[in-house]
Amino acid sequence: MPLCDVCGVREAEVYQPHTGRKLCRQCFINDILRRVEDEIKRYRLIEPGDKVLLAVSGGKDSFVLLDTLSQLHDPSKLIGLSIVEGVEGYNRREDVERLRKYAAQRGVEVVVTSFKEFIGYSLDEIIAKAWKKGLKVSPCTFCGALRRRIINTYARMLRADKTATAHTLDDEAQTAVMNVLRGDPDRLVRQHPRAPRLSDKFVQRVKPLRRIYEWEAAMYAYFKGFRFQEAECPYINLSPTLRARIREHLMSIEAENPGSLLRILDTIDRIVEANLEEYRKLPPLPLCEKCGEPTAPGRRLCKTCELLEKIGIT
Ligand code: SF4
Ligand SMILES: [Zn+2]
Ligand SMILES: [Zn+2]
Repeated sequence: MPLCDVCGVREAEVYQPHTGRKLCRQCFINDILRRVEDEIKRYRLIEPGDKVLLAVSGGKDSFVLLDTLSQLHDPSKLIGLSIVEGVEGYNRREDVERLRKYAAQRGVEVVVTSFKEFIGYSLDEIIAKAWKKGLKVSPCTFCGALRRRIINTYARMLRADKTATAHTLDDEAQTAVMNVLRGDPDRLVRQHPRAPRLSDKFVQRVKPLRRIYEWEAAMYAYFKGFRFQEAECPYINLSPTLRARIREHLMSIEAENPGSLLRILDTIDRIVEANLEEYRKLPPLPLCEKCGEPTAPGRRLCKTCELLEKIGIT
């Protein structure tokens, strides 16, 4: 077994293609923690004293978010929010309990809520209703819109200064490419950590893992002995979305040219940073006529209300 390229003492256990280094377990864990810290400092994602609401599921990425942030920030200022979507066979009580127990060991309290509690219907029930009406909507569209709404509402309720999500570099690069393909520069700007908030009702959202590869998050969770949720959401492969296709392409590009995802994010960050002033001049977003939450310019209803109205949930 070769020795670690960093400490030169312990056996290397992992090869990091984007740096060309072989690392031992400890140096790999240190590397992830340092890069999360660098990203937080680089964009002042979290400032000392900030109260941060962490959106956590039972998955590996949210474990890494919880584990790293509880080392880099006062754990008593962190609150986990676990949202049960209500998908048969996917949401399991033991996954939430395991996460809650782990968070408690790190001094972080976890609040659990669900779609059912928030709007009266589980995701399964919402999708069954939509399909009965012949609506061809992707469950992930409902799921994503509702999750964002719940996270923001809880952040306001709990008076959090920031919300943190566990999006990794893979997620961020996919979203950036999607926004480019859709010709949506506004969304591309909104992805940036220093993007202006377009409504006072939005609690600032930060993504401390945005420069950590998904495989690295998985490896970190494995090295730390975290047993994460294994069940996969049955809706994930239902319709091959644009994101799924982009993910596949980006993965093969990354395999051939390690570091590609980092370069995509770095390039977009730099372009956006050069144009941020323009976006600071934009007027605040209008409010949805139904729920009073911010919505896109020119829209009467927000996306969540529009989707729910379509399927007859008011
Ligand atoms: S796969 Fe789609 S529906 Fe399932 S939890 Fe993820 S976003 Fe929600
Ligand atoms: Zn080492
Ligand atoms: Zn609304």
